[in-house]
Amino acid sequence: MSIVQTVSCLDGYDPDALRVDKARAAILACLAPIRDSESVRIRDALGRVLAQDIVPQINVPAHDNSAMDGYAVRFSDLDKQPLKEIGTALAGRPFAGKLGAGECVRIMTGAVMPQGADTVVIQEVVKKDGERVTIPPGQKKAQNVRYAGEDLKVGIPVLGEGKSLKPADIGLIASLGIGAVKVRRRLRVAFFATGDELASIGAPLKEGEVYDSNRYTLHGMLARLGVEIIDMGVVRDDPAALEKAFLSASRHDVIITTGGVSVGEADFVKQLMAKLGEVLFWKIAMRPGRPMAFGKVGDAFLFGLPGNPVAVMVTFYEFVRDALLFMSGREDAAIPLLKASAAENLRKVPGRTEYQRGILFREQDQWKVRTTGQQGSGVLRSMSEANCFIVLEHERGAVKAGEPVSVQLFEGLA
Ligand code: AMP
Ligand code: MG
Repeated sequence: MSIVQTVSCLDGYDPDALRVDKARAAILACLAPIRDSESVRIRDALGRVLAQDIVPQINVPAHDNSAMDGYAVRFSDLDKQPLKEIGTALAGRPFAGKLGAGECVRIMTGAVMPQGADTVVIQEVVKKDGERVTIPPGQKKAQNVRYAGEDLKVGIPVLGEGKSLKPADIGLIASLGIGAVKVRRRLRVAFFATGDELASIGAPLKEGEVYDSNRYTLHGMLARLGVEIIDMGVVRDDPAALEKAFLSASRHDVIITTGGVSVGEADFVKQLMAKLGEVLFWKIAMRPGRPMAFGKVGDAFLFGLPGNPVAVMVTFYEFVRDALLFMSGREDAAIPLLKASAAENLRKVPGRTEYQRGILFREQDQWKVRTTGQQGSGVLRSMSEANCFIVLEHERGAVKAGEPVSVQLFEGLA
């Protein structure tokens, strides 16, 4: 199905006043996760997306073992004291014999439970006199024993396809003795900035120019997502150069551009996008970030973001990020919304979703949030000072100090 066909059958789809939730739904309806996979060594698998289920072929731990340093005993013998110490079990060096009546074995953490023993008594409470061991009352049967398969059990799947691998997951896979896993290949994302006013770092700034910062924020945001990054630089507002850039970028999975999609601009970008592929131009009911293009050029999905530096970041976090993670095969995309109390009055008009730049802080046992001040969509400092977005919902009007608001944290964001 074409993109137009897919999105036009969505409820409440209005390209000229598109609600944020509708835009998100429209994008996701068009995308599919990449299917190609590759095998990587687990050390290289951090942040990669599993393309297989991990099903244990062994129990972890493989044997019942001691959780403490102490004495392995038969619980039913505790009324036959003192017990006789007949040997030692160390981690990796099991005790070869078997406990008989009235016997015990000195045992260390991680050592296999000797045959016949069912309970471990910690060394701190035990009284020793040569081979004779006396244990105080109050012990519980089976205490301080870790059972085989307590962590992972043979045949019971532990990590599923679509999981983005964290350090703990990689350790878990290692604990099963598995050295390589199948993961989805990395999504290839090409991007460029458009605009005749853009100067590159290193060149002196001429009158009317600004240094191109969008490519650098984009690079940072993409790097955190673990995608393959193809930085195509700055492309002038020149039809031939833009066409070449789009065609070259369309070899990849995704193209991101900044600038050239706003309404008033006599930009070639829009015309070209429309000429080269199937591209929709949206006015999203949000602030900042109103204009945005979405569609396909060749087989590549295109996100045409606005030019304003804050709008780039907001549209990236609210639309592109989740889309890229979904395409990467991940199943845990959305950034959670948390509640905090507004520390000040916030201006807001109903009819659009606002993403004010916020500072979340703790005061008298309560999480509160204030804005970073000046909220212009060109004020990148507002993003740099912020640690969260204050997300003010579509229907909502002005917010009074003390009212609850939703926030999205930046830290830990990927
Ligand atoms: P546009 O969406 O192209 O109309 O650009 C909107 C505003 O964002 C203008 O003030 C541009 O100068 C600015 N802008 C566009 N692209 C960039 C960029 N790559 N880096 C910094 N500012 C930009
Ligand atoms: Mg422009």
